[in-house]
Amino acid sequence: MIYLDHAATTPMAEQVAASMQPYYAKDYANASTIYEFGERSRHAVEHARRVIAYSLHAHADEIYFTAGGSESDNWALKGTAEAYKERGRHIITTQIEHHAVIHTCSYLEEQGYAVTYLPVDARGFVSPQQLEEAIRPDTILISVMFANNEIGTIEPIAQIGRIARRHRVLFHTDAVQAYAQVPINVDYYNIDLLSASGHKFYGPKGTGFLYIRDGVKTASFIHGGGQERGKRAGTENVPGIVGIGTAAQVAMQAMPERMYREIRMRDWMIREIQSRIPGAWLNGDRSTRLPNNVNFSFTQVEGETLLLLLDAKDICASAASACSTGSAEPSHVLTAIGRDKELASGTLRMTLGESTTWEEVRMAVDAVEENVRLLRDVARMQ
Ligand SMILES: *Cc1c(COP(=O)(O)O)cnc(C)c1O
Repeated sequence: MIYLDHAATTPMAEQVAASMQPYYAKDYANASTIYEFGERSRHAVEHARRVIAYSLHAHADEIYFTAGGSESDNWALKGTAEAYKERGRHIITTQIEHHAVIHTCSYLEEQGYAVTYLPVDARGFVSPQQLEEAIRPDTILISVMFANNEIGTIEPIAQIGRIARRHRVLFHTDAVQAYAQVPINVDYYNIDLLSASGHKFYGPKGTGFLYIRDGVKTASFIHGGGQERGKRAGTENVPGIVGIGTAAQVAMQAMPERMYREIRMRDWMIREIQSRIPGAWLNGDRSTRLPNNVNFSFTQVEGETLLLLLDAKDICASAASACSTGSAEPSHVLTAIGRDKELASGTLRMTLGESTTWEEVRMAVDAVEENVRLLRDVARMQ
């Protein structure tokens, strides 16, 4: 099998599974107890918190464990909206966010907040100038994703952070696709809140974290016990937290090498597809994109059929994102970068990972070329 869908989820690293194992059975104690047995769980949780904090140049007490990227996004938006509602009720985001941000914003609109959804250009970039112009006296939060999960475009986060800081507006970034893929320093980028998800960087599913800068107010997300400094109640998912901590450590260590390797493979695939297949339109920017993301729209090709043909060759890829599969409408991201309905429907995303080999990317490009030609031949005969 050739797995080219790492943006949907990643396989768990072996070290991650091994590190979690003891906390399912032998070391089962509740991390919030005071006896020595519980200390072991508590230490494991706090170790994971330190590892993740270190990876972002943050402090351990700024990391809050959650049950995934969607929860982190929900908390970042609803939590700050609630905590700062006296200061203002305006939020700025983009048209290409993940649904965990977009749908939370529409919920907040129903609650009386105003949301500006910034457009993006043809390559998927938000304009920092337009963003600055959208800031109003009642703006409390800017939420712009670090990198897009469909087209891979990396947003001008440094500029956005500087603008947010200058106007004293909080800056949240959904870094689910970027964390452990590219280096992130929350101080350098002036990031106040950052979402990440374990299963996107070789960790366990159902784990995640939210970075909340010291001094930033957020409403509690789950009311109950005093876990996560009283902001996210519930007995800690010790095995999951240990797993996401190990995943962060392993993925950060592997990042520089993986990054360069993936970039070489990515650029080779893009060049080959563009030179061998006519009517292939690259989605996203040529170089300011995630190291592992290749995304094309093909004219006269039905994307779902192409995926099935690739699947028959044991190649796993995606149309747009896992979340919009099965929907007849073109993805909101492709629409936002100006792809018409027909071209958008012929979209193929291939996302590379730690275990991807040159042999696999060569076979994948061959299979794409062959099947795009086949589908066009069939269309011509009809
Ligand atoms: C996958 C993803 C999420 C959701 O993360 P889950 O852990 O699956 O809830 C949010 N944002 C982006 C950009 C993603 O790619």
